[in-house]
Amino acid sequence: MKVLWCWQCKTYMPMLDEEEWARVHPVTGYTRREGSSTEPYAQMLEHYKEITGFHETNINAVFHHRISLYGPPCAACGKALRTPESTKCFECGQTR
Ligand SMILES: [Zn+2]
Ligand SMILES: [Zn+2]
Repeated sequence: MKVLWCWQCKTYMPMLDEEEWARVHPVTGYTRREGSSTEPYAQMLEHYKEITGFHETNINAVFHHRISLYGPPCAACGKALRTPESTKCFECGQTR
């Protein structure tokens, strides 16, 4: 877990590395039944809280709080770039 700037939330948020993400969001292991689609999400939020200590209630936030989705920290302001391919920091305008 690493706290990174999230441009979508406009704040610093705890982000998951790939190993943690696999625990929160296992690709296998869910047997999705009709009418129980919210159940895995509740579990994901639970695991996210166990790992980060942050009580997140918005499942969409958990989905994008994944370190691998973000780029390296900006050389000027230190905020994570939006994607690994980003060449420009949207927060301060610095190009790398
Ligand atoms: Zn976010
Ligand atoms: Zn910057």
